[in-house]
Amino acid sequence: MADRYQQFTRSPIGRFLVPKLGLPSPAPLRRYRRGEPPLDGPALVGSAPGGRLAKVVDDQLAAAGIEVLSLPDGGRRHGALVFDATGVTEPAQLRELYDFFHPVMRGIGPCGRVVVLGTPPEQCEGTERVAQRALEGFVRSVGKELRRGATAQLVYVARGAEEAAESTLRFLLSGKSAFVDGQVIRVGTHTSTASAPESWETPLAGKVALVTGASRGIGAAIAEVLARDGAHVVALDIPAQGGDLSKVANEVGGSALQLDITSADAPRTLSEYLSQRHGGVDVVVHNAGITRDKTLANMAAGAWDAVLSVNLASQLAVNDRLLADGVLRDNGRIIGVSSIAGIAGNVGQTNYATSKAGVIGMVDEGAARLAERGATINAVAPGFIETKMTAAVPLVIREAGRRMASLSQGGLPVDVAETIAWYANPASSAVNGNVVRVCGQALLGA
Ligand code: NAD
Repeated sequence: MADRYQQFTRSPIGRFLVPKLGLPSPAPLRRYRRGEPPLDGPALVGSAPGGRLAKVVDDQLAAAGIEVLSLPDGGRRHGALVFDATGVTEPAQLRELYDFFHPVMRGIGPCGRVVVLGTPPEQCEGTERVAQRALEGFVRSVGKELRRGATAQLVYVARGAEEAAESTLRFLLSGKSAFVDGQVIRVGTHTSTASAPESWETPLAGKVALVTGASRGIGAAIAEVLARDGAHVVALDIPAQGGDLSKVANEVGGSALQLDITSADAPRTLSEYLSQRHGGVDVVVHNAGITRDKTLANMAAGAWDAVLSVNLASQLAVNDRLLADGVLRDNGRIIGVSSIAGIAGNVGQTNYATSKAGVIGMVDEGAARLAERGATINAVAPGFIETKMTAAVPLVIREAGRRMASLSQGGLPVDVAETIAWYANPASSAVNGNVVRVCGQALLGA
């Protein structure tokens, strides 16, 4: 789905004018389609001396059907460049990054992937801590330099969690991460083990997933993707959305549940419904959200209360109840939907940004607690996503939202949904406490 400006850039006159005027040139993004090769070209895997991940990564990529090279193939474009920087223990060794990437940067294919692997700085001391922290600046800048839909990410893999990063690598190298760019992901900081699902095509087979706000927009896409991955989806929305909700539930072979999550008895109703109908729940996606924008000086108390109630308080109440009743099963997942407004702040959105920053707090607070139950809590923070909500934004702001990002376009609801499906994957049990932006590396909040 190309917006009007994207269509213009692909027209003969656009192809002539865009480079001449130095205008943004949004590339068509490679998105996941079942049956297609995971990567468009071989992955070049390199390592700084003493790296502890390169060998494991070679094996994991090969298992995913990716051709792995240890030396550049001058004649072909690389689909991915993966560099194990865990051996970098002092700043002088950061030169290893330059030596690996510099000669091959021009040979990265369209929608190619750059992934740097490091050790979480908080697990390091002395110069190693400094050097590992420095990787972030490198990756975020590479993300801004890459063209034609290519992306760059940093994955900090905790010591002892070497085998647990497979689901993350598969996600990042595939078209599922099309709109994730310039992100820093931590694997294994709470739990260091993870096991592969029986099938990577349907990792959620036999699982039950609750998706709130599922009647349209991003929520409907989440329902679709989780169902594609094998889950039975309980699609929840307010009674006023009942018609659209049934449609989504039918399309994904799931169930529809009409419920206002802010009502006082919603946590109990939900807990009883999930335990009686399904014997529990494996994945809870808190997607329902509202905006009531006004500058703080002009905002009515009701607008503040409504936003905080839907976007934050109701979610905490539901989590508490599902955990207290033992309804969230072992290896369960709680997934929040924050926003880049919750990271960067936004004019007219004090209520919304407060609630969305609160979702990040919910992740921070819950990660260690959930790990004790073998469960995880993470969130996505979408940037500009093409939905009815953003179609209503005034044109100039809408265009700025799309173009002020490394990928210079809006994302699609499916991009948020795929990121949520990566968290939901049983193989992601070492991915806990993360907030990953799905924003095409938007300048806002960078
Ligand atoms: P949307 O308005 O299209 O969908 C939200 C859904 O939540 C609606 O179906 C609505 O009926 C439901 N909902 C609202 N209040 C509810 C309640 N009390 N109980 C149950 N359901 C309720 O919005 P969207 O654009 O699809 O956004 C989905 C999520 O993504 C929201 O949390 C939003 O804040 C977040 N988000 C969206 C964008 C974007 O660009 N669209 C960017 C950042 C974050």
